[in-house]
Amino acid sequence: MTTPIVEMDGDEMTRIIWKWIKDILILPYVDLKSEYYDLGLPYRDETNDQVTIDSANATLKYGVAIKCATITPNAQRVEEYNLKEMWKSPNGTIRAVLDGTVFRAPVLVDGITPYIPTWTKPITIARHAYGDIYKAVDTRAGKGKAELVFNNIDGKEERIEVFEFKDNGILCGMHNTDKSIENFAKSCFNYALDQKMPLWFATKDTISKRYDHRFKDIFNEIYENEYKEKFEKAGIYYMYTLIDDVVARIVRSEGGIIWACKNYDGDVLSDMVATVYGSLAMMTSVLVSPTGVFEYEAAHGTVTKHYYNYLKGESTSTNPVATIFAWTGGLRKRGELDGNKELMEFADKLEKATLKTIEEGNMTGDLIPLFKKEGVVNKKLETKAFLEAIAKNIA
Ligand code: NAP
Ligand code: MG
Repeated sequence: MTTPIVEMDGDEMTRIIWKWIKDILILPYVDLKSEYYDLGLPYRDETNDQVTIDSANATLKYGVAIKCATITPNAQRVEEYNLKEMWKSPNGTIRAVLDGTVFRAPVLVDGITPYIPTWTKPITIARHAYGDIYKAVDTRAGKGKAELVFNNIDGKEERIEVFEFKDNGILCGMHNTDKSIENFAKSCFNYALDQKMPLWFATKDTISKRYDHRFKDIFNEIYENEYKEKFEKAGIYYMYTLIDDVVARIVRSEGGIIWACKNYDGDVLSDMVATVYGSLAMMTSVLVSPTGVFEYEAAHGTVTKHYYNYLKGESTSTNPVATIFAWTGGLRKRGELDGNKELMEFADKLEKATLKTIEEGNMTGDLIPLFKKEGVVNKKLETKAFLEAIAKNIA
């Protein structure tokens, strides 16, 4: 390696697995150069969360990071770890610095059939992570008139009647910004080019003629002006349609699509898509900034229950696949940016070895009920034994 990768360590069971992956699957094969940041909760607390900000800035500097799952503290965690403060979600902090969009993609295995069996290729959900109902104000209304009032800084006032209430009801005011939608669009177009997959985007612009329509227009403008030629060259396409139409098309599709969603749609549909593919433990996640900076991680959390069992000395069979794919995603991207073919080939090899291990019947407990292949007997392995089985398959 020439340029270091930004390595963000994390918490609980995934922290244990992080170290095992490094020791068993990375260090014996790669002359690893990494700039290490400990985002484990004790060190975040010690540094007043400065380490999280530093790690995000390092990601801006180097362009590629890999992140272990981390605890987002709540009241119970403040007590458990005796924290100075209820620190913010590290993912939120990093996203705010990188201004990125999160893409979630499943790892597909021959032998695990999605609940929609025609989905033979991955569907990646890109969720806009700013605004709409997540930054809305809402209230209850009684008899009276509700108005939408906008006071422009130049002194102009715009007033629109929302509804004349004859009786009790409810009200909501939400917003988004052109800048945030533009960044979302650029992250999606960049990611589609990176993956060489078509991009679909949908809203309800026929009903929401200004709000949702603005999303449609911004995507269109940016596509026409900055990405159309690149997409044509890459042999992919961009399609805009209505949200209800896209749901019907997705179900009938074979996958192989990047599906850009408004904030609420992404919240709801990413859980549906993840479930259809079988397991949260097989879902990867990458944060892509509008300028093309990448941060790879697993979509799941720190698997607390397994960690407490591990601390008691009990055997754990926690699935490391999504975390392995965070490593391979990051190393492959680093290789691509540095023109380091060997590193890219190693990432491919490690992914193939991981899938081969499962397809031969060796897997963690969560996959046992999902995996069915003729002539293969499923065997449940502890996490470490599973990682060692993968190492044996690295040709
Ligand atoms: P979780 O860690 O994803 O685990 C929820 C349950 O899903 C587990 O108890 C386990 O089910 C199953 N599971 C998840 N990943 C698995 C894996 N790799 N292998 C096998 N089973 C797996 O979610 P959580 O319990 O809600 O959250 C725990 C902590 O993680 C919280 O402190 C939260 O803040 C944090 N978190 C971090 C991130 C992140 O950093 N990106 C994301 C989400 C949550 P069984 O117990 O039934 O085996
Ligand atoms: Mg959700």
